[in-house]
Amino acid sequence: MLDGQPQIAQLAQRVDSLLEGLYPEVQPFLHYRNPFELLVGVVLSAQSTDAQVNRILPSLFERWPGPCDWAEAPIDELERAVFSTGFYRVKARNLKQAARMLCARGGEVPMDMEELLQLPGVGRKSANVLRGALGGLPAIIVDTHFARVVRRLGLTTSNSPDAIEGELARLVAPERSYPFSMRINLHGRLVCKAHRPGCDNCALNDLCGYVRETRARP
Ligand code: SF4
Repeated sequence: MLDGQPQIAQLAQRVDSLLEGLYPEVQPFLHYRNPFELLVGVVLSAQSTDAQVNRILPSLFERWPGPCDWAEAPIDELERAVFSTGFYRVKARNLKQAARMLCARGGEVPMDMEELLQLPGVGRKSANVLRGALGGLPAIIVDTHFARVVRRLGLTTSNSPDAIEGELARLVAPERSYPFSMRINLHGRLVCKAHRPGCDNCALNDLCGYVRETRARP
């Protein structure tokens, strides 16, 4: 945790409110029609892009609509079907195993964090996506975009996703944490890009630690 906690909490509130003005609508990046489809999407999106995953999701669910279909699908066919998202062997194996577990409980995707983490291929980031998007539950979603933007803003100095999640969960009101995560993520994709952040045109540049540091450099 950083020093000056009250100031950082204030900074988080200002960022939250400015981003809400910029991105009033919070839209999921993955296309899905039910909780299982979102679960498959988040597992496949690891080390891939949402666009690539969205491209293949319709054909996957046309072939295997629900968890019990995935549980029974031949592993080599699953591997071929998810090949384009990378790490296809491990993803196919994880999804088949997760589908088996879900099929055994009637197809319902749990919302409890510990239960979600029992599903192969589901880490804290994926579990938070599912909890926030499906359950309206508090969810700080730490992916590469989120971590980069909150570090640059000065909301954390941590590198570990778990530490960042814990710190930001203390800075952002629980009911705002999911939209906050989605807006930070979108801002990272559109403006605060990894190699060339668009600081000159960024609505957050007056309060951003990265800009202050850059300007202070001789
Ligand atoms: S001012 Fe620059 S570094 Fe800061 S959030 Fe905006 S784009 Fe990112």
